[in-house]
Amino acid sequence: MPDQYTFTNPVDQYRTDGYPEQGIAEPGLESELEVRADHGEDTYRGTGRLEGRKALVTGADSGIGRAAAIAYAREGADVVLNYLPEEQSDAEAVAQLVRDAGRKAVLAPADLSVESEARQLVRTAVEELGGLDAIVLVAGKQVWVDDLADLTSEQFDATFKTNVYSVFWVVQEAVPHLPAGSTIVTTSSIQAYSPAPGLVDYATTKAAINTISKALAQQLAPKGIRVNVVAPGPFWTPLQASGGQPPENLPEFGKETPLGRAGQPAELAGAYVYLASAESGYTVGETLNVNGGMPTP
Ligand code: NAD
Ligand code: MG
Repeated sequence: MPDQYTFTNPVDQYRTDGYPEQGIAEPGLESELEVRADHGEDTYRGTGRLEGRKALVTGADSGIGRAAAIAYAREGADVVLNYLPEEQSDAEAVAQLVRDAGRKAVLAPADLSVESEARQLVRTAVEELGGLDAIVLVAGKQVWVDDLADLTSEQFDATFKTNVYSVFWVVQEAVPHLPAGSTIVTTSSIQAYSPAPGLVDYATTKAAINTISKALAQQLAPKGIRVNVVAPGPFWTPLQASGGQPPENLPEFGKETPLGRAGQPAELAGAYVYLASAESGYTVGETLNVNGGMPTP
């Protein structure tokens, strides 16, 4: 079982074969993937870097958010897990892993594309954890559309509401509750700089996330609240199998990177932990690219 601690060749540390041509319904369950992803369930080792922290993680049921939630719990944080109601079964599996780490897990389904639900989620998190000092915004919507003629205003709007407006709503609602030392980590993408032809709406939201995060970082730093961004490259998650890519792209998914393979969510856990822990205390408004070697601005 590959882990993040053993000296090894990253080229073949994880699956290099590509992925099955599988198309599942949006939002896609981890339990439906023919090839399951690695979220560090069997490998992530905490060292107390987030001891006593109170974290809200969105998109925590699967993929990158699941890896972050597991890592945060093993580093000592209590975690509110946000996801869509149809992802309850995936979320319950993550909640069990958080409890196995000896931490509190709060299941908090909410649709972040709806302002009232996004704001209520923050209030729920504060009540359930008795405060909040880490916000990890991982939820995202990505739906591939080949032809601009077929990109609907409804999709364009839903992608922006889910990916960009939710950052504004959650952060605005949370700031009055966040003590100095708190951290906010958002999730951008290689798509922010290198947009794929079928991801016009999605790629644009990811550039917006980079910018809104850097702007918020300027405003919140004097309060002692740090905002940073993780920008993943291709990672194997339900997002990709549930419309994020055309299924016929999946056998080659990730092979365009210099490392020649897609990443596994477990390979992102350290980035999300680092940007929340006091180790990164002088790092503000930064985008940490974790993408198998693709050049970024
Ligand atoms: P994923 O499908 O496991 O996670 C996405 C999550 O977003 C879902 O689990 C769902 O809970 C949540 N979500 C979607 N719409 C929502 C809504 N309206 N309200 C609340 N939650 C909603 O896939 P993932 O790849 O782990 O995606 C996590 C993040 O990583 C996304 O922001 C995605 O854009 C970003 N990202 C992924 C990749 C990749 O290759 N997988 C690359 C770059 C960036
Ligand atoms: Mg999911």
